[in-house]
Amino acid sequence: MSEQLSRHDVIGVGFGPSNLALAIALQERKAPLQAVFLEARPSFAWHPDMLLDNSDMQVSFIKDLVTLRNPASPYSFLSYLHAKGRMERFINRKTFYPSRQEFNDYFTWAAMQMQDSCQYDQRVVGVEPVAGAEGCISQLDVISENSKGEQIQRRTSDLVLAVGGKPVVPEVFAGLKDHPAIIHSSAYLSTVKPRLAASDRPLKIAVIGSGQSGAEIFWDLANDPARPQVDFIFRSHALKPADDTPFVNEIFDASFTSFVFDQPREQRRALLAEYANTNYSVVDGDLISQIYGLFYEQDVTGGDAYGLMRGTRVAAAEARGSQVGLSLCPVQGGAGTARTYDLVILATGYQRRVGETLLAGLKGYLEGTETDRSYRIGTVPGFRPQIFLQGYCEDTHGLSDTLLSVLPVRADEIAAGLLAPHCEDPGMLTAAE
Ligand SMILES: Cc1cc2nc3c(=O)[nH]c(=O)nc-3n(C[C@H](O)[C@H](O)[C@H](O)COP(=O)(O)OP(=O)(O)OC[C@H]3O[C@@H](n4cnc5c(N)ncnc54)[C@H](O)[C@@H]3O)c2cc1C
Repeated sequence: MSEQLSRHDVIGVGFGPSNLALAIALQERKAPLQAVFLEARPSFAWHPDMLLDNSDMQVSFIKDLVTLRNPASPYSFLSYLHAKGRMERFINRKTFYPSRQEFNDYFTWAAMQMQDSCQYDQRVVGVEPVAGAEGCISQLDVISENSKGEQIQRRTSDLVLAVGGKPVVPEVFAGLKDHPAIIHSSAYLSTVKPRLAASDRPLKIAVIGSGQSGAEIFWDLANDPARPQVDFIFRSHALKPADDTPFVNEIFDASFTSFVFDQPREQRRALLAEYANTNYSVVDGDLISQIYGLFYEQDVTGGDAYGLMRGTRVAAAEARGSQVGLSLCPVQGGAGTARTYDLVILATGYQRRVGETLLAGLKGYLEGTETDRSYRIGTVPGFRPQIFLQGYCEDTHGLSDTLLSVLPVRADEIAAGLLAPHCEDPGMLTAAE
């Protein structure tokens, strides 16, 4: 552990879009706070292993890091287009939905301008309470580690956790988690593509999961020059379209956050269930049509490179040397089949459980795992640091919480909470300011 102990008003853990939006909000408020953001990656990247060719954003470019809060901000997507000299050509495309590559480039452009706020190659490995006068907890020590294994300890008054989700590995694969043939979608490009390119025969691949990532990966593999044989395996009967129609889309409006928060617990749950088909286990309608067309053409030409195993669950998985054997059973019952694959890609999503984050070490000081409306987690009396969560409040704040939809507004609400102990009226920053 290094001897130095730097002191901060705020430490942000993670520097994805959520904390990037917060860094900008703090800068635009000219907040008199010593803030630093610690990011595990060596440089900024937004889901780099899923930056697939031909994948587009699922949110309007207007919902960038700043515009909902401050349309005059120099960190908007339009400012980015202007800086890159692509404004008119983007307009000519007549779309609200840039490619994911372009939005990553936009985020990276914004992150470059905020680089004084962020220290990269700093994976936070622990958060510890610091005792102050009269037995209260006055501050937190944040311990991070770089890729060489060197640790740094920093002290902070407040903390903002925005570390994204943890890849879900279904129970049936738990014993094979470290098997090289089992790959979560979050590692797709850097792991699978080199294996495809290096293989001297077409690989046999299973893609598990019927959400957007599963469909995108299936489509990407189907278009890969290495021509792998791919089984697309999922429990539901059909790929279902994501509902992005206008009335439904209003659930992603910033004002809907308070509406959800103000509901009783059962009602919030009912709202999440009612609108789950905007985000979970659903696929962009155009992609569904493309995949349907591919299977249709395969029937016409008589090929068998692609298998559609719907209504199918993985009942068991076992290592067979470098390969993996799967027992596949119909969800409705009946005889199953056994197949062996070179690669099994788990497009099985992410989970976000506060108790499994870095806050586990502070458990005795936290009052549960939910936050107040301002994203501040409840703490016991005598615990002074404020801890804010970004992306871990879906149960209380609604479906927009894990997405980009309300990023600038949430960032500003958290900025106001961070500033509250330092000034009388942190208020809201508007475009006019
Ligand atoms: C493939 C894909 C596409 C998506 N597309 C869309 C879309 O089109 N529209 C939309 O609204 N949402 C989309 N999402 C949802 C996504 O959650 C948000 O876009 C966004 O990434 C959330 O930002 P975040 O900063 O909260 O989390 P993340 O983007 O996950 O960033 C978290 C950051 O924290 C870092 N980190 C993690 N642990 C530590 C640690 N211990 N110490 C230091 N750093 C750490 C990570 O390296 C990462 O950089 C998509 C998600 C995926 C997976």
